[in-house]
Parts: sequence; structure tokens; C-alpha cells
Amino acid sequence: MTDDPADILAELSRIRHADPPTHGGRVLSYVYDHGRPELDALAAEAAAMFLPVNGLDPTTFASVARLERDLVRFTRSVLHGDGEVAGSVTSGGTESCLLAVKSARDCWLAARGETDASGERPELVLPTTAHPAFRKAAQYLGLTLAEVPVDPRTGIVAADDVLAAITPRTALVVVSAPNYPFGTIDPVARVAAGAQQRGVPVHVDACIGGWLLPWWPERDTGDNTDDHERWDFAVEGVTSISTDLHKYGYAPKGASVVLYRGRERHRAQYYATTGWPGYPVVNPTVLGSRSATANAAAWAIVRALGTAGYAELVARTAAATGAVRRALDGISGLTVVGAPAAALLAVQADPDRAPAHQVDPFAWVDAVRRRGFLLQAQPAFTQPDGTTLPRTAHLTITPATESVTRELVAALREGADEVRGRPATGPQPDLVAEVLTRGLPAEMAPVLSTLEAMDGEQARTVLTALLASVIDPDVAEDTDGGD
Ligand SMILES: *Cc1c(COP(=O)(O)O)cnc(C)c1O
Repeated sequence: MTDDPADILAELSRIRHADPPTHGGRVLSYVYDHGRPELDALAAEAAAMFLPVNGLDPTTFASVARLERDLVRFTRSVLHGDGEVAGSVTSGGTESCLLAVKSARDCWLAARGETDASGERPELVLPTTAHPAFRKAAQYLGLTLAEVPVDPRTGIVAADDVLAAITPRTALVVVSAPNYPFGTIDPVARVAAGAQQRGVPVHVDACIGGWLLPWWPERDTGDNTDDHERWDFAVEGVTSISTDLHKYGYAPKGASVVLYRGRERHRAQYYATTGWPGYPVVNPTVLGSRSATANAAAWAIVRALGTAGYAELVARTAAATGAVRRALDGISGLTVVGAPAAALLAVQADPDRAPAHQVDPFAWVDAVRRRGFLLQAQPAFTQPDGTTLPRTAHLTITPATESVTRELVAALREGADEVRGRPATGPQPDLVAEVLTRGLPAEMAPVLSTLEAMDGEQARTVLTALLASVIDPDVAEDTDGGD
């Protein structure tokens, strides 16, 4: 250890060097690259300015209230919300989803004259494609899950199936615009209309689509009269929406917005108490003391881009997505699942081809990684009705993809050519112990196949052990040359 700032920063830089590149379009998940370096500099300065501020108390730090008000107002206008819509800035999509479930649970309990969930458990109705943040919320907050299978060919849930799952215990119905695994939009308008008739609130998870769909070409979500295309507050029965500033809003990590139709729904998200000898506590969100850096950075990015800036970045993302899509359509042995609504694509082995001509998505992800691009592997999934959603490779396209489209397309093609006809990788149970002692191998297909074959409980145990071992100072080794 040393106290010299230059040495400290040099060491941080060395540590950071082990990461895959967060800019330049080579990582097709996790990072959302606008491709405009001046925006990074702006976000960094804005964040630095707010480093010492505590977001715990916006009555003391009025700046925090101002930033949040502005972000809520802008987000609300993008999502066709009127003065009836209120909400909060949170630390991310998971927190936004968690709070939407908390609000719905407490409103459901209040409507029954209860104040805690010690009686009948409230229920969350959601398609299998809904984000795990909702499963996590149900586990944390004591709700049961009613999972609705989606069509394995299209990745879309049938509105009637969702509505049929509603019971008197349903506290909230969740749909996505779009869902993460397949990038397809659920039938929001039809679900919302039916749920509203039954007096049940509907949350639209637009964590990933909220800053993309409003400007996506060939989607007129403004004055569109086709209800099937609508998914935001323009749809009457939609009662809450989550949308992540730190994805296609291009803010640094740590910023999302959750909005509610009706202030009482928003208020139900709050925690407040005078039940201790200290200061009166009011927490709108999960955290107590909280950083205002992400809010300041998000505020600066939103200000710099405005609707015109988002429209331009979406146009570039759409152009890149079109190019990648055309290339994928030309690769034999692979096929895109369903009809993705925007910049997320899931690619499966083409079921209409003989195995000798198919491309296994897991092997393909490895082959494409060797060519310098990171895709995301998604294991096959058996739904509650016994149908199986296919093993896929996931691509998240960003504006930066445009600058590397030709290289990416070549990597996708050559990767497919390399592994086409190889039998799909199967599970290797011995691998688990090896991974837990030696870390993840370069070839991930066998690891993912092994995980895919495990039941939920086994997979939970292994995943927990693996991640804990990566962080545990008594297990993990520093490979970056630190002391
Ligand atoms: C990313 C995402 C979330 C969760 O957001 P985090 O910011 O990762 O916590 C929820 N829903 C969807 C559809 C997402 O893509």
C-alpha cells in the first residue's frame, strides 16, 4: 500500500485493465455505449460535484430534490404520463421493480384492511420471461408467484393466459416492454384492459425498453391508435412503470425511475417512522443514506441529450440492429427467436435444420468470444406447463455497435462456420468442483450446459458458491499484480 495518489490511481487503472472493454461495441450486454466521449466527461464531472452530498434528506440537501423532480418530470413526459403520475429515482432496475411490488403489496393489504402479510399471501402474476427482479421482490416481500408460460416460438405471453391467472389474491400483474430474454413486447394493452376490469394493477417493466421504444423507428407510440402497440401510461390500466436511466438512458450505473399512476400508489412505496429516539426517518426508496452522484450524472446526460439526442442515438441503434439482424438471417443453422421489438435479439439453433447443420448457441458464444466479441448465453428453460424455451445467445445492440458492425458480423459468421454441426454441448457434472477451485474456464459452453441440466435448488447453490468464491478474500486470488 502507498499514499501517493498517482500510485493509487495507477494501481486502480491496472485493476480495471482486467475488465473487458466497456466502450467500443465489443461487449453486447451489461454496457450501453452511446459512443460519444464528451458525454462520459460530462457525467464524470457532474458525479464528482455531488460526491459529498447525502441523498438521505432532500429537505436539507435541496439539490437532491431538484434533480429527482426534474428526472421524474422528464421521464413521465416521455412515457405519456400526466399530472396524476408520480415516482422516484432509484439505484437501478431491480430496486424500481422491488418498490413497485412493495407498493402493490401494501395497497392490496390496505384494501383488505390489513397492515402486514401475516394472513393470506398476496400473489404476483407474471410471464416466465419477466425479469428475476420480480421473483426476488416476491421472495423478499413475502408474495407468491403465479408464472404464466409464454409461446416457445415467439417468446410472447397470451393476454388471455395472464388474465386467467388472476385471482382475488393477485396484488400485481407484471408485463414487459420488452422482456430481456427475447426482446419481445408483451400484449400490454390487452392485459391492462382486462386487469383494470378486475380491479388489478398492472406494472410495465420498461427497464430496458423505456428509453428505446419511444423513438424506435416504425413504432409510433405517440398518437398510435393501435392498442396492441401501446405499452406506457397512454394505456389506461397501466398503473406503474420501471425504466432504467443506466441502460438506454446512457447514465452511469446507479439510476432508474419508477413511476405510478396515482399518488397513493407512490406513497405506499415509502417507509417512515418516528419509532426510535433518533431523527424522524422518511425513506422513499430502499436505501437510507444514499449517493446523489448517479442522479447528478443522469440529470446531466438527460439534459445534454434531450428528446432529440435520444432520437438520434435510437436511430443509430436501430440501424445497427437492422444490419446485425440481416446478417443473422443469412447464417444457416441459427435463427432469431420471435419478433424482437427493438435492440435485443435472442438467437437459437434453427429447429428446421438437421442437427448436422445446426449451430449450438453456447458453442457459438465461445467461438464469437475468441473473435473479440462478448455475447450472453441463456440456458434452456422448462416452463410450468412443461414446454421448453430454447437455449439462446443474447445480443444487446447499442449505438457503439454501429462502429464495429462489419467486424461483428464477420465474427458471428465465422464463429458459426467454426462450430456448425458440432453436437450441442451436454452437462459435465465433474466440472462443478473444478470451476469452484480453479475459476471459470475460457470455454464456457460445458459450464453453461452443466448449469442448464441442474434443478433450481442445485443451480442456486452452485451459483452462490461460485460468486462468493470470486469475492471471498480467503479464496480468491489477485491476478492483477496487486499486493
Ligand atoms: C435490466 C433489467 C431489469 C433490472 O435492472 P437492473 O438495473 O439490472 O437492476 C429489470 N427488467 C428488465 C427487463 C431489465 O432488462
